[in-house]
Amino acid sequence: PARAAVVSVGSELLLGDLVDTNAAWVSSKLRDMGVEVVHHVAVRDDTEEFVEVLAWLAERVHVIVCGGGLGPTSDDRTRAAIAAAAGVALEHHDDLEEAILQRFASMGRRMPPQNAKQAGIPRGARPFPPVGTAPGFALTLASPKPTRVYALPGVPWELQQLFHRDVAPELQALAGARATVTRVVHVIGMGESDVAQVVEPIAGDRDGVTLSYLARSHEIQVRLTVSADDVGAARGASQPLLDEVIDALGGAVAGLDDEQLEDVVLRLLGDRGETVATAESATAGDIAARLGAVPGASHGLVGGMVVYDTEIKHDVLGVDRELLDEHGPVSEAVTRAIAQLARERFGADWGIGVTGCAGPTEQNGQPVGTAFWALAHPDGHVEVHGRQIPGDRGQIIKRLGSAGLDLLRR
Ligand code: ATP
Ligand code: MG
Repeated sequence: PARAAVVSVGSELLLGDLVDTNAAWVSSKLRDMGVEVVHHVAVRDDTEEFVEVLAWLAERVHVIVCGGGLGPTSDDRTRAAIAAAAGVALEHHDDLEEAILQRFASMGRRMPPQNAKQAGIPRGARPFPPVGTAPGFALTLASPKPTRVYALPGVPWELQQLFHRDVAPELQALAGARATVTRVVHVIGMGESDVAQVVEPIAGDRDGVTLSYLARSHEIQVRLTVSADDVGAARGASQPLLDEVIDALGGAVAGLDDEQLEDVVLRLLGDRGETVATAESATAGDIAARLGAVPGASHGLVGGMVVYDTEIKHDVLGVDRELLDEHGPVSEAVTRAIAQLARERFGADWGIGVTGCAGPTEQNGQPVGTAFWALAHPDGHVEVHGRQIPGDRGQIIKRLGSAGLDLLRR
């Protein structure tokens, strides 16, 4: 496959002020086209350093996609650096200047005089008319071998539009481009190494398959990337492998591809015409928020209560004072009670309750990570689970939310 590099331009990236999301976005698009990204480089607003990087990359890749540095100010060096790397001068394009003028006019503004220099691109380059105010371009560096260089604006939506309109069609025509498909298995309740132990023997060593893991706070994603001549063939080839992986992971599989745990839960509730309500202490509404973020959630989610404070659990939700005094707010008994009360008070079929100590310090003598989650069933019985949840505060909250939600998937 063709080899590519992504170059992100801007001193802010190297000062830690800006996270390079453009490189990630471009890489995923290139991957989908079967172009192999082998380098990510961030360069400062320094023409000489930029030219050095281009020279280094031109020996190693066929395609370089640059993002940023196309603005009108003195710190925008991309036009000059690519021209220098190619050994050509900048050439003013009247039609690009006209396009920039029109972009300003369409926003009801006059073009500041200095923006005219954005119409100066390296001689021989193919211009990309602006969708914002910055034009982009493509140019082939002739030595040491032909390398196609793309220059795109740094503003993410502009970069994305120019990529789709001007870059993707060219790259699709690249000889040897193969299609790839990435299938994602969402796994919850297992650690990354346990997941790997199950998946590795199945998918670890297959031709044309790249296996990777992405640990998120509340789940592990197993990502299977399969390449073939076209998307249909890649999808077809991925299916048996996917089935095997799902089979081996069993009940730990919480969703596929774009489907998250909350999507699965709402789909199951929808199939049965049932509803759920929550009473959340440690997660402070995270479960309800995750459900509520799914389009069409209202058919399944009735409502939820954030019962964070111990007194509120009694005063507002109605947990027995004796229960709270005897067992403490983070306990099996209280979690059972809030799940039951959520179901009753909201008139839902199911009630989820969660309590826990998310840290950073212990609470009432209970160590960080102590957590309980409960599900009140339509027949009135309540199941309760408890376990130490590892991680920092954010991870414990997400993992406890997932544990609570997951009860509805079983
Ligand atoms: P324009 O030509 O539209 O002025 P530019 O090519 O000069 O853009 P920059 O000035 O480097 O690009 O960046 C403009 C804005 O785009 C930045 O303030 C930042 O918010 C965003 N941006 C730039 N580079 C990146 C990146 N690599 N990842 C995410 N956002 C970025
Ligand atoms: Mg700029």
